[in-house]
Amino acid sequence: MMLFEDSEPTTGKANSKADVGAFIALFCKRYKELRRASYFVRRPKDLTLARLLLETYGAADLAAMVDDLLTVDDEWIGATDRGIGILVVKASWLANRHAQTAAPEPVQEPWYDICSREHGSACRSRWEHEMRLRESA
Ligand SMILES: [Zn+2]
Repeated sequence: MMLFEDSEPTTGKANSKADVGAFIALFCKRYKELRRASYFVRRPKDLTLARLLLETYGAADLAAMVDDLLTVDDEWIGATDRGIGILVVKASWLANRHAQTAAPEPVQEPWYDICSREHGSACRSRWEHEMRLRESA
């Protein structure tokens, strides 16, 4: 596979040419799977953008962002080709979206919501609530 013609040595960093090539390959694969169409890679622009994206987000998060880009039912995205240029434009929005779905905050019930369940009646303060919890323990 001759993705890159020049012979600049790879750095071994996360944004090496091998990673950029792998990301482009992944993008095209997912594009085909999720959009049922072939993505036309715009060189060299897409490769430059891919490197910037990899530097900023890393391969794992970026892969999840690509899936969102290709599947999300957003008016703004739906009107585009969902290409790598759009991925760049919408990157922070997609990253936020991914962060929210990837790591949901554990929902903790507020103390006043468990009062009636724990001791049959509502407490007037958190302090009273904690005292009653301690007594019943
Ligand atoms: Zn209580």
